[in-house]
Amino acid sequence: MENKIILDKIPSLEHPVGLGGCRAEKINHVCCDYNVVIFDNTDLDDSIVELENEFVRLHHANLNESRIEVLSQYQNIQIINDPKWELKIFLSKIKEKKESILATYSKKCVIESQVCLAKAKDDLVTSEPVASCWIKCAAYFLIDAILALNGKQNFPVHTLDTIRNLKLSKLNDSISLITECIGLERSTHSLLSRMLKSTQGFSDMIEKNNHSVIIKNKADYLIENSLLSDCYFYLGNVNRNNFFKISNSPKEISEFTHVLKTGFDLENDSVKHESYVNTLNEIANNLLKDEWM
Ligand SMILES: [Zn+2]
Repeated sequence: MENKIILDKIPSLEHPVGLGGCRAEKINHVCCDYNVVIFDNTDLDDSIVELENEFVRLHHANLNESRIEVLSQYQNIQIINDPKWELKIFLSKIKEKKESILATYSKKCVIESQVCLAKAKDDLVTSEPVASCWIKCAAYFLIDAILALNGKQNFPVHTLDTIRNLKLSKLNDSISLITECIGLERSTHSLLSRMLKSTQGFSDMIEKNNHSVIIKNKADYLIENSLLSDCYFYLGNVNRNNFFKISNSPKEISEFTHVLKTGFDLENDSVKHESYVNTLNEIANNLLKDEWM
């Protein structure tokens, strides 16, 4: 799709607009949406539109952004509208600080994973499925951390591909242990179709923005192309992001546990969970050593 068709959909072109995500990196599949970032200095929720049979996600952003997790996503934005060159200046500042942004972001992800692991430990005693949820979140944060240390972004549909192409190193060696804790080896056609329905349902309840049609589009593509582990990883990543929107509310967590049980493929195995917590804690502690940061 040409940029002009996207720009026609944007109400005002006085603000800079960029294309982010996997399409800016040119690693996209046909199923991937266009991740359009409008720097209109608002914090409106994302919206999703369909253009020429493809999905476009409109995301609103701020040129004074300082949150490290957001800046880390802006490494490779392609400018599609920039009347006053503001976006060009903003992106060149980010480029200058790329290494320190990614190192700080990585550290933040590791700390986030440690918080999840502490919560998992508490829930091991009281609620197995919720403990499983925290363990998976911790594992996804560690993947984010390692990718950032490799100078890569997490584009969840493509992450396993990115991982397959990372160079062998002590740092990257731990990835297979992490993906084992996520549960990739469990991915089968029938499990994935159940996970997909619940993941869509959870997204509709939390995001309320039609993201679920994109989720289905991508999952169907991955399943049709026999990329079952990639699909499992992708759906889990969607659930991690949405779970985090309710993670401070024990009431909502218990309300949504039944849908997450299927969508996030939560398990009930305390022995396994305890060993996952120990494995992931050890990896997190290693990652915080100065040699990586
Ligand atoms: Zn993609």
